[in-house]
Amino acid sequence: MSGYDYDLFVIGGGSGGVRAARIAAELGARVAIAEEDQVGGTCVVRGCVPKKLFVHSSHFAEAVEDAVGFGWTVDGVAFDWATLRDNVRADVVWLSGIYIRNLERSGAELIRSRAVIEDRHTIRILADGRRVTAQYILVATGGWPALDRTVPGIERAVSSNEMFDLKTLPRRLLVVGGGYIAVEFAGVFNAFGVETTVVHRGAEILRGFDGDIRRSVRAGMQGRGVSVVCNDTVASIEKDGDGIVGVTRHGRRIPADVILYATGRHPNSSGFGLAETGVAMGGRGEVLVDDFSRTSVDNIYAVGDVTDRRNLTPVAIREGQAVAETLFGGTPTKVDYDCIPTAVFSQPEAGTVGMTEEEAIVHRPHVDIYRATFKPLHHRVAGRDERMLLKLVVDADTDRVLGFHAVGVGAGEMAQLVAVAVKMKATKADFDATMALHPTQSEEIVTMKKPVERHRRAATDEVGGAVT
Ligand code: FAD
Ligand code: NDP
Repeated sequence: MSGYDYDLFVIGGGSGGVRAARIAAELGARVAIAEEDQVGGTCVVRGCVPKKLFVHSSHFAEAVEDAVGFGWTVDGVAFDWATLRDNVRADVVWLSGIYIRNLERSGAELIRSRAVIEDRHTIRILADGRRVTAQYILVATGGWPALDRTVPGIERAVSSNEMFDLKTLPRRLLVVGGGYIAVEFAGVFNAFGVETTVVHRGAEILRGFDGDIRRSVRAGMQGRGVSVVCNDTVASIEKDGDGIVGVTRHGRRIPADVILYATGRHPNSSGFGLAETGVAMGGRGEVLVDDFSRTSVDNIYAVGDVTDRRNLTPVAIREGQAVAETLFGGTPTKVDYDCIPTAVFSQPEAGTVGMTEEEAIVHRPHVDIYRATFKPLHHRVAGRDERMLLKLVVDADTDRVLGFHAVGVGAGEMAQLVAVAVKMKATKADFDATMALHPTQSEEIVTMKKPVERHRRAATDEVGGAVT
């Protein structure tokens, strides 16, 4: 046991911080965790959880439309924003309470305050001015929406944080950005009947995803009525009667009641003593860490979005767990970042794991693409004119499945399951040897017989760097 007040002091009670605090306490460490806001952090309070509940709510719009083809009469259906908002808020409070109880059960001490690092072993608790000491400090302070403050009128825009608490449902929504948050919120509010426009600076939304996913999600969004404007961005926001108007670089004037900036997030790394203590940071303010999440100050660790590695909840959790096991479990533990599955809860939904086609042809000389696009059984009777996309990216030399990409109902659930096979280095022959489960949409994953594209690099061409 150290001569400090605590063995571990965690700053930030979100996904990464809570996991690290609980595991460290269960391993016998004396742990405190400071949280200045609601316990649970971004995921629980203003991210994954309320977002996914909004997505569930918005799916009823499509279900009601589709129900008619299946023989149902659906007169008098209406959506009430205030009911959804308040019920989701109540669920978040409940879930935050579970986080608190789990922390208490583990033996970690929860301090409801902002914490500031004074030196490498001293933390000041702002709520009561107390100074405490710790052998190790873990920074798990997450991230915050990045709004370009140079845009005239930006103070009239909101971030995803505010979207959960809007007083009334807007009639028109303008979304700036083409990443996860932009497409997810555009899908949700469009389904609620809000006239929705997305303005994205790039040529296609969802940069970094497989090209088929990007095109397919955009087409599906447009098919549902979202207006997607690419190669342009909002240059200023002006007042316009009761509403506001986004004026784009190319001179478009897009009137709206709410303008959502979903233009990425910054690591939350300033204003609480990190730089002053000598913790090194990168150009985006991300805390720089080694494979064990240790910063340049060797008793200070950092996990989650503040390190800007893969900004996803399960990753923050794994990183927090690894730090606890490294420091108090006697097992130096690294997180494996290979084959992280991810879903975009857009409408239509996208799920993916492993290499995109574009990455594979850079890193592998011979790549086969298997692709199935089909109208799901459900859509035929519902009268919905949309196709599901399933795609496998295969190394033609080893037969190993390098990547899986899906767009359509259940795409995220599929990506989670296929991730096990991809992670185990399954081959296309393994997929082929698996019996189909009929009638499902995912059965197509094991029945794609012939490649639709074969990429073959000439022997003289250089192959890109290693991607495992
Ligand atoms: P956070 O969860 O952000 O926790 C940091 C905590 O630190 C906060 O509670 C903050 O109040 C506290 N804090 C900061 N500074 C101090 C201080 N000085 N003293 C005390 N407390 C402090 N990921 C997914 O995997 N799936 C999804 O579907 C998904 N959806 C998302 C939707 C939205 C709208 C957003 C914004 C994010 C979403 N994410 C999703 C990302 C996910 O929420 C984050 O990757 C994850 O929450 C990061 O966890 P963290 O522990 O690093 O930080
Ligand atoms: P993303 O990085 O996903 O997307 C940011 C978008 O904003 C990109 O389209 C980017 O364009 C654009 N952009 C960036 N700067 C500007 C600018 N100055 N002007 C105009 N456009 C700009 O960030 P999000 O905010 O959507 O989400 C943050 C992170 O949270 C995600 O990356 C993800 O890690 C996590 N998240 C995960 C979810 C999930 O798992 N389902 C859901 C929501 C969030 P360009 O592509 O050209 O750079």
